[in-house]
Amino acid sequence: MKLHEYQSKDVLAKYGVPVPRGEVTSDPAEAKALAERLGGNVVVKAQVLMGGRGKAGGVKLFENADDAASFAKELIGKKLVSIQNPDGMIVEKILVAETVDIAKEFYVAVLLDRATQKNLVMLSAEGGMEIEQVAEEKPEAIVRINVDPAWGVHDYELRKAVREANIPKEAQGQMVSMIKKLVKAYIEEDAEMIEINPCALTPDGKLIAADAKVSIDENALFRHREFADTQSDSAEDPIEAEAAKRGIAYVRLGGEIGIMGNGAGLVMCSLDEVSAAGGKAANFMDVGGGAQAERVKGCVELVLMDPNVKGLMINIFGGITRGEEVAKGILSAFEQLDVNVPVVARIEGTGAAEGLALLQNTTIVPASTMQEAAQKIVALTR
Ligand code: GDP
Ligand code: MN
Repeated sequence: MKLHEYQSKDVLAKYGVPVPRGEVTSDPAEAKALAERLGGNVVVKAQVLMGGRGKAGGVKLFENADDAASFAKELIGKKLVSIQNPDGMIVEKILVAETVDIAKEFYVAVLLDRATQKNLVMLSAEGGMEIEQVAEEKPEAIVRINVDPAWGVHDYELRKAVREANIPKEAQGQMVSMIKKLVKAYIEEDAEMIEINPCALTPDGKLIAADAKVSIDENALFRHREFADTQSDSAEDPIEAEAAKRGIAYVRLGGEIGIMGNGAGLVMCSLDEVSAAGGKAANFMDVGGGAQAERVKGCVELVLMDPNVKGLMINIFGGITRGEEVAKGILSAFEQLDVNVPVVARIEGTGAAEGLALLQNTTIVPASTMQEAAQKIVALTR
């Protein structure tokens, strides 16, 4: 789960990483007071979960509070579009922060390196621009330090790395200390990634995080209730946000055939079969093991929230999940919701016969195999 810049900076500050003073608001009227309090020399930054905000016009420097306030007014509610995010995102909050006087820009990040199965620190004196571009044009400018799972990072490794990365002498000690704090924050906060770009060196020789991106492992959110509130508003899709609130595993995929099944593997197979039959799946959705009728109804409702859905394929293999419970859920969904798309159901395993019996004399089309279900729903939505 990605955190906004202001939240990321709060996390870093907790571990002693220097960050600029700043405050966040969604109220254009408040922006002026914030800018005044910071002395007028401020940077106004859109708090949207996308990269390249600078190039998209979401970051601007000002020398007085009035100009900052009028930009803030323009920015709140505006849609920002970047190369990374062509669909764009609406700016709801802005960060007003004291401007950092920047002499040099560095890049530093901690992330999981799946190839070595270790955490990795990446460091470069070529900060400010996209790291992908540095990696392509000047790969030798990026220094990598593996984090030993048992021992963490050693001072001597870090001292060697900052020299190799050509971090200027006056900043080397600060960089070593910053990296140690970042690694500690990364481990203790269950982060998937911490990235500081640019990590600024001021003309008077101080290192400070001018930007920050922290992403937290969603599976560890039970240990970090303080981030849980942001989970639903950080989801980029409204149906995914609603699913997260209800605790349902749902991913929107953009096609026209809604999918509901039990077990991630079975649902993935269903996606493949729909694709093989010439259709495009609208979503991934796992109703979960042992789902009761009420939950099944909630799942049907969720799938149908997507206006692109022209048909629904239900694929249940009963084990702990009982076929008749699923059938009851489908029936109550039909009674209470306005289901006006064709539905094909394949129910196999525990309680299958009872379930299929319940669906007789309804408009729901039965299928005896997953392939048949996929072919039928694709044909019915044509
Ligand atoms: P991003 O484009 O989403 O990564 O947003 P950043 O926060 O990195 O801002 C984009 C660019 O604006 C940075 O690379 C800096 O060059 C510049 N910038 C951001 N904050 C400051 C600041 O406090 N002082 C100065 N001088 N430049 C800044
Ligand atoms: Mn940045």
